[in-house]
Amino acid sequence: MLALTGGNLIDGTGGPPLSDAAVLVNDQGRIEAVGKRAAVALPPECHVIDITGLTLLPGLIDCHDHLTSFGYDLMGRWGLAEPQSARVLRVAKVMEETLLSGYTAIRDCGWLDAGYKQAVEQGLISGPRLQLATSPLSPIQGTANRSSPSGHHQPTSPNPNLPSGIADGPDEVRATVREVVRAGADVIKFFNTGFGRQTQSGTTRSYNAAETQALVEEAHIHGKTVACHALGGPGLRTAIEAGVDSIEHGCLLESEPDLLKMMADKGIYLVPTFTVFTFHATQGNPHAQAEATGFRQQHIDTVQKALSAGVRVVAGTDAGGWEHGNNAKEMELLVAAGMTPMQALVAATGWAAGCLDLADSIGTVEAGKFADLIVVDGDPLSDITLLQDKERIRLVMKEGKVFLDRVSSV
Ligand SMILES: [Zn+2]
Repeated sequence: MLALTGGNLIDGTGGPPLSDAAVLVNDQGRIEAVGKRAAVALPPECHVIDITGLTLLPGLIDCHDHLTSFGYDLMGRWGLAEPQSARVLRVAKVMEETLLSGYTAIRDCGWLDAGYKQAVEQGLISGPRLQLATSPLSPIQGTANRSSPSGHHQPTSPNPNLPSGIADGPDEVRATVREVVRAGADVIKFFNTGFGRQTQSGTTRSYNAAETQALVEEAHIHGKTVACHALGGPGLRTAIEAGVDSIEHGCLLESEPDLLKMMADKGIYLVPTFTVFTFHATQGNPHAQAEATGFRQQHIDTVQKALSAGVRVVAGTDAGGWEHGNNAKEMELLVAAGMTPMQALVAATGWAAGCLDLADSIGTVEAGKFADLIVVDGDPLSDITLLQDKERIRLVMKEGKVFLDRVSSV
């Protein structure tokens, strides 16, 4: 048994912090007990780490990452820029850095294959708990169907673990969902609008209603959640009506109050991914810059309207497009969009676990859940940006195992 004692606990539920707390972790990697230090009985053989003066939180969760992506240039995206082995090792390094920055769970929304998850689970590499989309679905001309300005199409993936994901018509969509499930997907991701391309804006619809319904139904038959990239327009509406489980981006939702109500009624999460759009607006291609700048205020207004409508807004960065290892930036941007620091923390912990359909096992510091815990120096409720400072991440534990400990060793 192991115990963290004396810290200020923010438990991920949104409830008030608990001072002088204790968390007891059992040998199965789960939280045995949590409460005021005086109220938690510690067994005599328990290893105690004193975290007095520090803040204890659930491990952070990013609901939208791309661990295997490095920028938007064609060579990189098509896997032509370096040998596969170098890419695999580069991804492994990012996974370890992401874990050590306090992120104990990542939902990868595209192109990370199941081998990475196996490697983490088998202890070959250190990384966050992973939830994978493997290959996102898209029709011909959709976002995942890449072609170059010269008209050349993306070469077939050299990785047989990643299906192409391109499917048209309800029957092909169903078959491709099955293919992606076979490849190890935990969540079915699809693109139902574009963004930032001459031929695809955030309001260009990809799948029609019949295709979208087939996708959602087939995914749910296999017990998988559905994450849909949609910014606005008919593709966004079609996805919400079909009952996807999360809307990725959703930048134009503020102008669609009936859709926000539908999302709240159906329990559909919103992952606004401000991080990536902050970069798109300043460093993207001309189309992306114009589009992201154009809807910036609408995107911000969407957060408040979504919360008022009862939609759960969660943290996801869409990292990989522009940077890795600074996933906590999203919480700063959620606060800038009007969330309180506590709401932003819940968006990256308790609610995020719900978005991953893992609310029973992670996301909050409660007895019975996995001990995915972090200890930080300072109070994120008074300064949410401190979570981006790697030096202030003092301890990282995933499933009871300590991966970083700057507390005991100081
Ligand atoms: Zn993405």
